[in-house]
Amino acid sequence: MEKPFFVEGEKRVNRILDTHITVSTERKQKEAKRVSEGTSLQKAVSFTLASGYQLDKEAFDFLNNIAEIEDPLFLIEEAVKKIGDLPQKPLFIDRVFLETMRKGPCAEEKLPSPVPSPSTTESRKTFRPYAKDVEDQVKVITDPTKKICTTGTITEYLGYFQDRFERLKKILQKRIDAKNAVPISVALKAPLKSKLNVIGMVMEKVESKGKLFVRIEDLETSATVFISSNLSREIIAKARSLLLDQVVCISVVKGKSDLLIAKDFILPEVPQKTLHKASEPVYAALTSDIHVGSKKFMEKEFSRFLECLKGNRGNDKLREFVGHIKYLVIAGDIVDGVGIYPDQIEELAISDIFEQYREAAKLIAQVPDYIEVIIIPGNHDATRKALPQPALLKDYAEPLCEARKIHSLGNPSTVSLHGVDLLLFHGRSLDDIAAVAPNVSFDTPEKSMKLLLQNRHLAPIYGERTPIAPEKRDFMVIEKIPDIFHAGHVHVLKCNQYRGTLIVNSGAWQKQTDFQQKMGLVPTPGIIPIVNLQTSKISTLDFTEAW
Ligand code: FE
Ligand code: ZN
Repeated sequence: MEKPFFVEGEKRVNRILDTHITVSTERKQKEAKRVSEGTSLQKAVSFTLASGYQLDKEAFDFLNNIAEIEDPLFLIEEAVKKIGDLPQKPLFIDRVFLETMRKGPCAEEKLPSPVPSPSTTESRKTFRPYAKDVEDQVKVITDPTKKICTTGTITEYLGYFQDRFERLKKILQKRIDAKNAVPISVALKAPLKSKLNVIGMVMEKVESKGKLFVRIEDLETSATVFISSNLSREIIAKARSLLLDQVVCISVVKGKSDLLIAKDFILPEVPQKTLHKASEPVYAALTSDIHVGSKKFMEKEFSRFLECLKGNRGNDKLREFVGHIKYLVIAGDIVDGVGIYPDQIEELAISDIFEQYREAAKLIAQVPDYIEVIIIPGNHDATRKALPQPALLKDYAEPLCEARKIHSLGNPSTVSLHGVDLLLFHGRSLDDIAAVAPNVSFDTPEKSMKLLLQNRHLAPIYGERTPIAPEKRDFMVIEKIPDIFHAGHVHVLKCNQYRGTLIVNSGAWQKQTDFQQKMGLVPTPGIIPIVNLQTSKISTLDFTEAW
């Protein structure tokens, strides 16, 4: 008899139609948040002590206060690193020091504040951009555009999830601690109290009467895993932060009847990596969410950026810096689009999508021609909305392609720029992660992006806000660990580093919209992160002030 795969696959596909969590989501989220905040604070304190420092009371209160919005452990790790570079090391870490650590969107080196340019151009040196004499090195490694072919049948969805499972299982099995994992069916038949590892896709998380259960499935069968409250807080927090439809390895003990009892959770994770570096000091300017056509598009600020690229703005030091920019990478939402959300028309300055792209083309045409421009679409752009998105549709983007040479790719794509691998993703799924994962929110996209790296998947949760097309191959699996992981979508500039990979969410060029105001989201538009591909240092240029 033919074995069924994904016994509950249809249930998963139908989940889009109903709310799939059995217990009150809000309550679960609050609980999960509380537990993980506690653990993270404890970890931050232990880390401080283990590094040979102490926190004074005010610093502790400060960490406690920020735990709701930020990971205190991350801040402490940064602080300890910073103290390591100081000639005189304090014994106590105080509040003022922690506060200075938090300043600025990037913890990395910032460019000294730009100085107003002299009023007469004669006093300036002529602009000789370094990058003009450097030959570009752009290699497209992956681009889904020409590989897309779906009709959206149930069978295709089953095939898609099967591919996702197989790919992530392979990644998990490369880990020493998950190598010996057995199929769920084998675990279910094992003698009582046997210790085993199983790999499964998370089907459901159920909490009832204070007890937490996770349902997982593989290609043959499914099982219920019980998470005992006697486990360490850290392991319980891992269980709570599991995302639906992610693939995970669970160390279990076989219990009575068909129950598996969890001992630990192993994520696919990314190994520590040494970044590839360019052999020359060339820079990549990373941006996204320009939203041309919106009344809130910051035309003045974007023009300042363009003038700066042309060498028409800033003092000599700044122009020298800007002259190293060889690549301009745009991670989606070039235009605001039409009919993206209810009543969007009220917020549009240009209500015709063709006209929006013509305006965008006029802007992009001004980017100096020695700079390579790489563009992927976002959810506001003119191409299909489901992931993976093919490159911008020719009918709409023609003016852009005619205005200058651009590399128009799909979402997600990977490119190598001067030997540095960049994973480019618009970031729609960051909405879903912020809604359910403990300890992350809309203004901490760098933490959600870290979670995506740990799960080796760009859009794990199926059936929420992120539409996913049932391609034969799951393009959203992060097969190769990038040197830089660049996304946008949330309009908040944040940088981070995880096991060597640079994480950048590149902000926006759109002022706070009414919708964002309702959601309580405060964007950080008009600031652009620039990565030195030779040193992997990030600097930011702020165009919100006239200089
Ligand atoms: Fe956007
Ligand atoms: Zn977006």
